[in-house]
Amino acid sequence: MEEKLNELYNQCLQELRKIGIDLRDNETIGNIDIKLSNRGTKRYGCCKQEKPDFEFKMVQTMNNRRIIKYEKFHNHHIEISKWVMELNDEIIKNTIIHELIHCIPFCNNHGSEFKKYATYINEKLGYNVKRVGNPKEDYQNSNKEYKEQIIKYKYKIICNQCGQEIYRQRFNKKLITRYKCGKCGGSLRLFSESVDKDKKV
Ligand SMILES: [Zn+2]
Ligand SMILES: [Zn+2]
Repeated sequence: MEEKLNELYNQCLQELRKIGIDLRDNETIGNIDIKLSNRGTKRYGCCKQEKPDFEFKMVQTMNNRRIIKYEKFHNHHIEISKWVMELNDEIIKNTIIHELIHCIPFCNNHGSEFKKYATYINEKLGYNVKRVGNPKEDYQNSNKEYKEQIIKYKYKIICNQCGQEIYRQRFNKKLITRYKCGKCGGSLRLFSESVDKDKKV
């Protein structure tokens, strides 16, 4: 399965380069790695960002709180959920490309810049990269039976600085005393003990 993922990943990189998006451009993009995720989540994949570029620091004020955000990162760790690998190659590649867009500066969220790239790629290469996927539809398109499974996260941890939300099924105090936010390096706090969140892409 790992081999198939790497093969499709390389195809995506090549196709994107043909339309002028070079994700191997280390200076602009940084380092990207990709692996399968074992965690039983409903989301298709994720892109964990590391090493923010301090020249791309943005300060926003929201509800009288200062929020620090970074628009560029040097390290990107993409994870694709194992269940996605059961689906059509086309859908797997949509997922890979979705996560690859997150590696581009200013595309860490699903904002306008992300949308611009998704639209351009869909138009040029015939993909169907969306902000949020639809598992039911994708299973149907792959002729696979779809079983609804919702993961309930028990704990919500929040970054004091940038507001990033992290969901965990188990909680250990070390999570907030020893670790820092992966996006901005801020300190973390436990926000609530019982959240009913079903996370997507
Ligand atoms: Zn943070
Ligand atoms: Zn995303």
